[in-house]
Amino acid sequence: MSEKRIIKCPNCGVFNTNKEYCTNCNTLISHQKKRELKEQDSKQQRVEEAIYEKENPKLAERLKKHPFFLYRIAGWILYSAIMVVSAIGAGLAWFIAMIAAG
Ligand SMILES: [Zn+2]
Repeated sequence: MSEKRIIKCPNCGVFNTNKEYCTNCNTLISHQKKRELKEQDSKQQRVEEAIYEKENPKLAERLKKHPFFLYRIAGWILYSAIMVVSAIGAGLAWFIAMIAAG
């Protein structure tokens, strides 16, 4: 890594040698670092999307409208499960509220 990389800061025009951030204004100027951060971002985004899909109750809605009937059945089962869980959750919340008020 003896190679010198001189990058002109796109923000303030100062030349920086072997720096990831501009010494003058702290702007990220390393292309490699930029790419790394971008990759991290998209990876993080994919993870968040996967979690969202998993936890999103709308999945049941989507499944219920699926052209394939087995998926629609799964959608209804999922929908019922979500309903039961939220009913229990609401009941529990009410119960706790009652105790707290009591
Ligand atoms: Zn700068």
